[in-house]
Amino acid sequence: MRKPIIGANWKMYRGVPSEAEEILRELVPKVIDIKNVDIVIAPPYTSIIKTIELIKNTSIKVGAQNMYYEEKGAFTGEISPLFLKKIGCEYVILGHSERRNIFNETDELINKKVKKALEIDLTPIVCIGEHLDERENGKTKGVIEKQFEMTFDGLNQEDMIKLIIAYEPIWAIGTGKTATPEQAEEIHMFIRKIIEDKYNKDTAERVRIQYGGSIKPSNARELFSKANIDGGLVGGASLQAESLYQIIKSAENY
Ligand code: PEP
Repeated sequence: MRKPIIGANWKMYRGVPSEAEEILRELVPKVIDIKNVDIVIAPPYTSIIKTIELIKNTSIKVGAQNMYYEEKGAFTGEISPLFLKKIGCEYVILGHSERRNIFNETDELINKKVKKALEIDLTPIVCIGEHLDERENGKTKGVIEKQFEMTFDGLNQEDMIKLIIAYEPIWAIGTGKTATPEQAEEIHMFIRKIIEDKYNKDTAERVRIQYGGSIKPSNARELFSKANIDGGLVGGASLQAESLYQIIKSAENY
């Protein structure tokens, strides 16, 4: 039985500590008794420490939205995974489509980051997903398979079980267009089949695969009710305590 996991990707919002505080003061008491859903908040770097302070003594975890694959050095503007780990981050989002498409991150770079995160015990939430034209041209599965091969190259079974996969169709991110539960489930099943073929059935059954792309309180329950969807990565709707809470509640009984 896989425990659902909800990630809140705040993107480049709520980066001033007082802005993070505003949402967390409302959210934390609402979710404090929720035990059967893992909750990860991923704020901008500038409000990570404040977030860690505000979720202390709760089961909520904190993640970063990116990292570099080196621990230290002359890498101006980059963020070290070790710094994140040392201040109390436990998760890191890697390969988000905004990183891939706006900042030209490649599968090879993401693969290095995934390996580094696993090495220092930061749990990577690794995003994969297709563009709209790829879906319209029937290429979705081929794209997913290639991203999987390259992004997870060299990982063993233990590594796979530790990480989280986020299936995020790019055409659904921040657009208000959500994949239907059936469309999402089909690709989640497909990803699980890739894992089974590459590793084994037990590994495939254990890896958590989130859906991401315009999740809202109104569509969350139906998505999470699907057998292969283990919660979600939420952007826009995670910026308000009430909508994030509703989405977390929707994952509670699956
Ligand atoms: C995301 O940023 O990962 C995301 C899914 O965003 P949104 O929920 O706004 O589509």
